[in-house]
Amino acid sequence: MMARRKTVNITGIKRVEGIPYHDAWAAFKCVNCKRMNYVLIGQELLSPDEAVENCVWECKHCGFIHSKESDLPFENWEDEYNNYDSTTALRFWEGFFRIATEHPESYWKQCNVCTRILPFQAFSKHSGWGPLERQMECRSCKGAINAVLNPKRSKEQLHESAVRRRIADLFLEGENEAIDIEELFERFGSRCFKTKAPLDINKRSTWAVDHILPSKYLYPLKKENAALLSKNANENKRDKWPSKFYTNNELIELARITGADLKLISSRWPIMNHNIDVNKGVERYLQVREKSDLPKRIKEIKKILQVYKLVDSLEKNNKKLLGFS
Ligand SMILES: [Zn+2]
Ligand SMILES: [Zn+2]
Repeated sequence: MMARRKTVNITGIKRVEGIPYHDAWAAFKCVNCKRMNYVLIGQELLSPDEAVENCVWECKHCGFIHSKESDLPFENWEDEYNNYDSTTALRFWEGFFRIATEHPESYWKQCNVCTRILPFQAFSKHSGWGPLERQMECRSCKGAINAVLNPKRSKEQLHESAVRRRIADLFLEGENEAIDIEELFERFGSRCFKTKAPLDINKRSTWAVDHILPSKYLYPLKKENAALLSKNANENKRDKWPSKFYTNNELIELARITGADLKLISSRWPIMNHNIDVNKGVERYLQVREKSDLPKRIKEIKKILQVYKLVDSLEKNNKKLLGFS
């Protein structure tokens, strides 16, 4: 196992140290269990002749040895064809190693940001980076890094996040409760829960009600889901899952004050609320003035339901209407 010490570059997207990003990997699919394997080759690429002569690649899943000295495992072949000293087996192994080593494009490379081992094509060209002359981060990570440097959102992106907010609002319509602000101030001692700065109930622009579990994850605003924050603190909190914003001690305190479910708000990763009326939300979203808008709406809500894993909560007729059954 290589070191996994993490460093931060200027963009704030972490590169992982110890990744041999100058090196080539050969990838092969096990002939026995059909699962993927990666073999670190280093900076000197193999020729197919060398590979078939010298390589002994063990499947890390099932242990099958890939070498021209191995019998083939194909049960539906005649035994004699599987035998390592048959011409069929030899030609098979020659092809097997040729696939993995013939061209620079046959090789794979490890991204030092997401750490995935990906095909050559997943990296942009960069002369001088080892035998593959590819960049050290994959094109997905490159895209993310570029987005940090140039964070302008596209029109389409803005539209999509508006759609998502609108759908979340529709799912939660009728589930949100009016918050008694005086009571909220009382419970939080008229202080910002994060910074402890005193807040004045009459200066409306200086404080905000935090949706502890965000509506983004389909939690309605209720007494036990509301915290008092200063305007600034709330701007930092926004749609963040509570454990990504509050410390452990704050989460415990928050559960004590509000009655929120401590296990849920402390969960490391966001948990989507499935305890909502999905069908009503879908019906609301599909109420359009112009019938011609309907196909677009259906497409939009279908995607969201899949992302939120809410398809199973749909009634039969809605499933059918959206083309899920
Ligand atoms: Zn295997
Ligand atoms: Zn990557």
